Amino acid sequence: MLDPTVDALKRIFKEHYFKHSDRVEVPIRMSEREFGYWPFGGGMIRHLSFKTPGELIATLVKEAPKGAYYSCGYYHEPTLPMAEKGWKSGDLVFDIDADDLDSPCKKEHDRWTCKKCPKMGIGIRPEKCPACGNTRIAQLNWVCYKCLDASKREVFKLLDMLEGDFGVEEKCLRTYFSGNMGYHISVEDKIMEDLNQESRGEIVDYVVGIGLLPSIIGVAKQSSYEYLSSKLPSDGEEGWRGRIAGYLKDYELKGLEGSGGGDAKAKILSIYKKSGYERFRKLLEQASRAAGVAIDPNVTTDIHRIFRMPGTLHGESGLEKMKVENLERFDPFVDPVLLKDEEVKVSVKFAPPFTLRGVKYGPYSKQEVVLPEAAAVYLMGKGLAQIVAGSP
Ligand SMILES: [Zn+2]
Ligand SMILES: [Zn+2]
Repeated sequence: MLDPTVDALKRIFKEHYFKHSDRVEVPIRMSEREFGYWPFGGGMIRHLSFKTPGELIATLVKEAPKGAYYSCGYYHEPTLPMAEKGWKSGDLVFDIDADDLDSPCKKEHDRWTCKKCPKMGIGIRPEKCPACGNTRIAQLNWVCYKCLDASKREVFKLLDMLEGDFGVEEKCLRTYFSGNMGYHISVEDKIMEDLNQESRGEIVDYVVGIGLLPSIIGVAKQSSYEYLSSKLPSDGEEGWRGRIAGYLKDYELKGLEGSGGGDAKAKILSIYKKSGYERFRKLLEQASRAAGVAIDPNVTTDIHRIFRMPGTLHGESGLEKMKVENLERFDPFVDPVLLKDEEVKVSVKFAPPFTLRGVKYGPYSKQEVVLPEAAAVYLMGKGLAQIVAGSP
């Protein structure tokens, strides 16, 4: 028998899939993909294949899993063990996670709890519990509008790079809210799908801005000013040269307040003059970190990964992995909230404040509250609340 909270989550998900199965986005070339799902109260089930969309939907409704996935890869035999599947090609995918951005708000909304004693705290977990000295500490990562907005800015940078630098057509790009802490970008493009793991790794380096050398903007040790002036990037150049120029142009020189702006070339020359090669190289690293995109490199290079299925619910939030049509206007705490307003009584261990559909909830600490289903699932999915017996 399932735990009553897990049972409630499964019942709620089942009802949702039963009523809204049309929201599930069946992928192209489904017969070549591996499918998998993660049942509530069980372990991951992988290496599945579905012949028809109907068969896939029927399984979702029946199992109502906490996560449903399919491979980015296309295989000859998707149900065989990994080594025997026969990888043909695969979508190029990117994952941008608010949790990887180190936004200042993490210190306000993340929480940690000691696994040995009742001690808990705000922010990033300490190495050991200040109360009992135990090193086993659980971290609760949380998201808010600030860090999801920061993720959105990364998505804009990535889309700009894919279209501008790589020439990917807009119609081949799909942007999704991940259903919890960030965004997934998927490239379904004939030119990209054959890329092997190594080539995908090179794309990652380019996108993140790893290994950018001063020579890309024309700076070499002991180059003359005449040489530099002829090689330096100018305002509005495309690609990484332009990105670096844009960053350095607005860079405030130490001791020279208001030195941002102006002509990029002249500005870079004056920075180089002032700092010398080594310091300039460091500044370039800083520029590439700022102008690069904060993607999770492992997701893009893993050609066998199964990725959350669009139109399905995320078990830790109850929010949908949703296709984003207008990124500027997309609201991650409104648009993908699809569960009902019906009330559920839960006992909350603790919860930082959160907002769903414009309603503010929390903070909560060791209390029973009656919440709309969507908010109750948001907490129960994260293990922060239990259903109260007798609750509808
Ligand atoms: Zn402790
Ligand atoms: Zn935040």
